[in-house]
Amino acid sequence: MRTKRQTVFKLLKKTPMKYPFKPFFGGIGSILFMHKVVEDKTDEPRIELMKANEISVRFLEEMILSLKNQYDLISLDQVEARLKNPEAHQKKFIVFTFDDGYRDNLALAYPIFKKHQVPFTIYITNCFPNKTAKLWWYMLEDIILENPSLIINQSKATMKFKIKTFIEKERAFMSVRTLLIQKSLAERNEILFQLQEQYDKNLSDYIENETLSWDDIKELSHDELVTIGCHSMNHLALNTLSVEEIKKEVLQSKEQLEKNIGKPVIHFAYPYGTKHEVAEREINLFESMNWFNTATTSRLGNIQPGHHSALNHLPRIQILGDEQDLEILDLYLYGMIPAMKNGFKPVVKI
Ligand SMILES: [Zn+2]
Repeated sequence: MRTKRQTVFKLLKKTPMKYPFKPFFGGIGSILFMHKVVEDKTDEPRIELMKANEISVRFLEEMILSLKNQYDLISLDQVEARLKNPEAHQKKFIVFTFDDGYRDNLALAYPIFKKHQVPFTIYITNCFPNKTAKLWWYMLEDIILENPSLIINQSKATMKFKIKTFIEKERAFMSVRTLLIQKSLAERNEILFQLQEQYDKNLSDYIENETLSWDDIKELSHDELVTIGCHSMNHLALNTLSVEEIKKEVLQSKEQLEKNIGKPVIHFAYPYGTKHEVAEREINLFESMNWFNTATTSRLGNIQPGHHSALNHLPRIQILGDEQDLEILDLYLYGMIPAMKNGFKPVVKI
């Protein structure tokens, strides 16, 4: 299934239209972000939405090799210096970052970065190595792909889905996902418990198999190429929390990470990180607390010299699973897509 966005990008990448954007919107660098890296795509059926957060090992290597020729591939630690003195470098810089802390970052991505001696950052959500997160979306995907029907018993109503065809499976996944997100934590846990029982699944298997352990994180942190960043304790939208709760979510995470790796943790990525979860109150708090040297959002944009005063809310570019294409990446790095998305504003702040 091709989305409207994919069709538009496919047309745009073949035109020379991207070039005039470069001097105005390309900026002096870009911070890329990803979540999961997977073995090269197989024919196994998957739910579309789940694939968006996964890029293949093959594309990761292809991207590194291609960008290595055109850009300086630097670590997050070097961004501040680049912003202080943007004139000193001829090439634009690229920083690679991963969010959340999936195990494949060590098993599949790390060997590629090591092979090409390229630095990268992993922002850890502590509920991953603490193994307290519930990765229900993976369990839901498995249940839907493995069964011809799905029944969700709630206290007041029962939902029944016929899920024989792939379109039915996609629709059921989206409906149940929306339902689970909207429920209170207690109600969500009740439905999840019932799904585990009914379909013989165990949520703890998913957290065990999919996420980095503290030992993995320690191992990674010993390599100079790897920067361990902070992504909060429980991946909550900070705008839904009180200032005291934010302080707890962030500081506990930073301290626990530092204790485990024995090094200062000076970079942060806001959970979710769009304008819906990170706004003036959160940015001002980070500014006044001075917890980190840099903090990144998920707002779409390249890094401009003007970001020297926005080190605690730097925009990034997400590499999506359905956009694993170097020509589409150019549309982002040259600034064409960010310009169109941000109303032609080059310096993306809050
Ligand atoms: Zn995240």
